[in-house]
Amino acid sequence: MRFSVAQFCGDNLGLNALLGFTESFSSNYFCRTCKAHKTTTRTQTKEDVTLMRNEVNHAEDVRHANLSETGVRRDSVLNNLSYFHVTHNQVADITHDLLEGVGPYELKLVLSSLIEDKHLTLEKLNFRITSFDYGFPDLKNKPSVIGKHELKNPEGAMHQSAAQTWCLLRLLPCMIGDLIPEDNRHWELLLLLLDCMEFIFSPSLTLEATVYLAAIIDEHHSLFLELYPNLHLRPKHHFMEPDPVAPPALAICSEMSKCLEKS
Ligand SMILES: [Zn+2]
Repeated sequence: MRFSVAQFCGDNLGLNALLGFTESFSSNYFCRTCKAHKTTTRTQTKEDVTLMRNEVNHAEDVRHANLSETGVRRDSVLNNLSYFHVTHNQVADITHDLLEGVGPYELKLVLSSLIEDKHLTLEKLNFRITSFDYGFPDLKNKPSVIGKHELKNPEGAMHQSAAQTWCLLRLLPCMIGDLIPEDNRHWELLLLLLDCMEFIFSPSLTLEATVYLAAIIDEHHSLFLELYPNLHLRPKHHFMEPDPVAPPALAICSEMSKCLEKS
């Protein structure tokens, strides 16, 4: 039996450790796929094609042996495999990036803005959360009520599991959409995030869909920066941005076909 390693799945910390990158997401170069400095990523709405990691600059970074200047902790033993290189690993950690990262963070910011603009009250929101008919598939994911203190601290933890957050985000337009004016920009940000998630959580994507996804992520991140000029994009926003050089599906297919040809 012949086989080839195409991609490694894991959470952000596990992947960074396994592939030999920094294990701190507050370090200067925290991204596995690019060499953008953390200050650049705070306002960057799409990956910069000139900063992508590749086999050549990765070998230089390993030789340079300076974690704070490269984000590379060590060479990975996985680079000894015939058809795999750590810079080709495109896997993202969507539970941590979205359901426990960007999702609850933006949900709290947007709900706070809607409450501040008097489109709804926290009591009304919680009433709709508790009385909504979730149906059989979502009954076990029913979101918890949201506390006032949670909205005051958007960066703090939200008292919902990842499944509850996903359920709340998906169904929120049905729960409170009737209360929000059509041209509300904060609401638009949340709807854009839901559009992105629709693609990101899809079991498979066409190449064309990855191009469209990159465009709506760019639009979403730009709107975030416009609406919240005192905040910046977080590392989990950055991890949403697809690699412009090697779309995941193509990267996997080309490695696998090379392997099959040789064997
Ligand atoms: Zn990057």
